[in-house]
Amino acid sequence: MNQTNTPSGPAGNQIIWIEPEPCILCYACVRECPAMAIEVKANVDHVTILPNRCIACGSCYTICPTRAVKIASDLNKVQEAIAAQRITCAIIDPCISAEFPDITDYRNFVGMIRSLGFKGVYDLSFAVDLTAQAHATLFADFKGKYRISSKCPAVVSFIEKHHPQLTDNLVPIFSPASVMAGIIRELEPENPFIVLINPCLASRLESGSNDDNHRIDAQIPFQELRDWFTSHHISENSVEFSDFDPPNGRKGALFPLSSGFMQAADQFEDLLMSNFLSTDGRQDMVESINGFATSYEIRKHLDLFYCEGCIMGPGMSAKGNKFSRRTLATDYAAKRFETYVPDVWQSDLEHFKISEPNRQFHPDNQQMVLPDETEIADILKLIGKTGDHDTDRGCLACGYKSCRDFAISVALGLAKADMCHLYGTKNKQEYIKSLRSSNEQLARAQKALQESEKQAREEKQLAQEYSETLTAVLQKIPSGVVIVNEKLRIIQANREFIDILGDEIKAIDEVIPGLKGADLRTLFPAPMLNLFTFVLQNNQDIMHKDISMNNRLLNLSVFPIKKSTILGAVLRDLSLPEVQKEEVIKKVTEVIDKNLEMVQQIGFLLGEGASDTERMLNSIIKYYRSEETK
Ligand code: SF4
Ligand code: SF4
Repeated sequence: MNQTNTPSGPAGNQIIWIEPEPCILCYACVRECPAMAIEVKANVDHVTILPNRCIACGSCYTICPTRAVKIASDLNKVQEAIAAQRITCAIIDPCISAEFPDITDYRNFVGMIRSLGFKGVYDLSFAVDLTAQAHATLFADFKGKYRISSKCPAVVSFIEKHHPQLTDNLVPIFSPASVMAGIIRELEPENPFIVLINPCLASRLESGSNDDNHRIDAQIPFQELRDWFTSHHISENSVEFSDFDPPNGRKGALFPLSSGFMQAADQFEDLLMSNFLSTDGRQDMVESINGFATSYEIRKHLDLFYCEGCIMGPGMSAKGNKFSRRTLATDYAAKRFETYVPDVWQSDLEHFKISEPNRQFHPDNQQMVLPDETEIADILKLIGKTGDHDTDRGCLACGYKSCRDFAISVALGLAKADMCHLYGTKNKQEYIKSLRSSNEQLARAQKALQESEKQAREEKQLAQEYSETLTAVLQKIPSGVVIVNEKLRIIQANREFIDILGDEIKAIDEVIPGLKGADLRTLFPAPMLNLFTFVLQNNQDIMHKDISMNNRLLNLSVFPIKKSTILGAVLRDLSLPEVQKEEVIKKVTEVIDKNLEMVQQIGFLLGEGASDTERMLNSIIKYYRSEETK
């Protein structure tokens, strides 16, 4: 069974609660709950039971597909009482027949219970006979006030909390289980520990509010009893026959069936003659009480069961078939009836007769104040129920019988708008639409990204090609060329540059190929560096500066390539013969140019003499050029 071994629930003494983690927010429990006791909050990923409103009917427990609903277990308490050798007595609900069809003889079942350590094992049937008789007497003694039976603890709790104005209509008699507890206390005066074994969760609520005489100390559902037998290897074959402790019942074994209670008092629901109405099941219970509350729709005593008979109670194993359980229960009742001894039964009935019905009930008004009409209308509008919609009806998918009831629940904070199927579908469609639009945007962004990646790749390739071309060209230039950044770190230098700077720099080149990243300040003396700094700061060329370095005369030109960021420099070793020739040609060209200027100025005076000088100088140039070509 889906229980914990803690004796009570997590909040106070809650006997039923919902674990957040397994809850998948399917709202099945909300739909089943007759007491609007399950809260659904926005932005919370699980539902919560409101203990004050809960009537412990167990419907949420039965319906929950993920076993998120938990029930507190009394098993430890019972085992401790047995271990402490208290006189422990079990009250067995006649439902056992429907839960344990595998145990063929009820006497074996009683033997199995005793072998768990129970001293007394009592059949609830006798107390059913007693309470049914008392109900029948009250129903017959009609003085204008219709009654509601008090045999079902869930019904009693529903009236106390949700129709407290009807509490006075409840039959003031304890439930059969509580009556049986009183009988056991009379028979076992040594303060027995009384355990109710049945499929009803709500009976724990009742026993909590009983007086000491009718107190039930613990309750064990059938599913848990089955697990207990298994863990102690107790089976029908491992025990001998044993019978219930007296008093024995008559027709009380019919109690688990709807209308079986009144039959125990030989009262049958005759459509023409009977003054009571028997119903079972959640919906019928709610509707019949609502009808009874109006005081004119139903003019009968009500004999109500919350479940469809105890055979369908929350403490029964899951998946049982109602009609096969019904057959098992009637067969068992027939078998028990065979053991009925009229004289003994009659005398027991007289002995334990409920002469003064005096049960006290505990009205605990949990009725909610309805929200105002504007708020209800706003919620109906939000969920799209306006205009032609009849809001007193609904698709029932949310679990409420009308859209209006649902809107009230939302306004009271007990439900969320998205529990509405139509609203949820609409939201989903809008969500899908917005998802589709953002997907399209994403696709466009991805495409743009791919294109820019492609462009970047192409640009990178182009830059690579330029860089390779530049490197190749630089290597072919017969002068030293270096390109540096604003920190004077070398970006590119050609072979000639390295050769001009000498052996020491060639050694560095072996470690740092091409001197890439090398600091120019470690390669050049300060006067040369000053030229670079000047160009960097002023973005002006410095051309053809003759500089001495390591006893060699060098010619340096520095110029900006990218403003204040990248500089280029050309270095020539003037001691090399080819450079010398070139320099001479350059110098002679300059002399010719200057002479020509002079010639033009004195041309008039010197006439043909100037042409001779030009011819002479040109021949010198020609000579050097021819030498260079060779
Ligand atoms: S036990 Fe019953 S009343 Fe309590 S929350 Fe579950 S369904 Fe609602
Ligand atoms: S039935 Fe209730 S508790 Fe269980 S998963 Fe659904 S919403 Fe959660």
